[in-house]
Amino acid sequence: MATIKLFDKSFEPYLPEALILEKIKELGQLLNQDYAGKKPLFIAILNGSFMFAADLFKEVTIEAEICFIKLASYKGTKSTGHVITAIGLDTDITDRDVVILEDIIDTGKTLNEFLPQLRNQHPKSLKVAVLLHKPDATVFPVDIDYCCFSIPNKFVLGYGLDYDGFGRNIREIYQLQE
Ligand code: 5GP
Ligand code: MG
Repeated sequence: MATIKLFDKSFEPYLPEALILEKIKELGQLLNQDYAGKKPLFIAILNGSFMFAADLFKEVTIEAEICFIKLASYKGTKSTGHVITAIGLDTDITDRDVVILEDIIDTGKTLNEFLPQLRNQHPKSLKVAVLLHKPDATVFPVDIDYCCFSIPNKFVLGYGLDYDGFGRNIREIYQLQE
């Protein structure tokens, strides 16, 4: 794997595909144990998590559902501030064992705002599985139940994650060269 250039930035190889897939396999096996007999509903957050969700769901051998949503953020009124809404959540999550699939937790702002909205719909349980977590960047608390990789606070690209829309199709994860 060589350094790649995208727009004005250079990225260097960080996590090889085989290692990513190995971690995802382990996560799948753990979920198969933890959710046996529970018919969990996985909710993958687009766009970034599409590749992670697809590879993880292939490792899930128990009965399970998956759906995909997008989060849109709006500037609300002065009192509501910035508001996050889910687009495409057409499955009733009441009394379901829900697992959120997210590509990366950076500041934590997105899930910190969104998880309480889901809790309002009274799922039986609500857990979070992430491919990547940047603990040094996280300022809004999020309980992460399953995490494949804890990574340093550097911008990453590939395996579903983009830089300005591009790079999602790269099979490995690259890190911004500084
Ligand atoms: P948070 O709300 O936790 O700050 O950020 C969540 C979202 O920001 C992620 O779902 C992802 O879309 C984007 N993001 C955060 N860090 C990175 C990164 O290093 N690379 C890429 N490509 N996206 C990131
Ligand atoms: Mg995301």
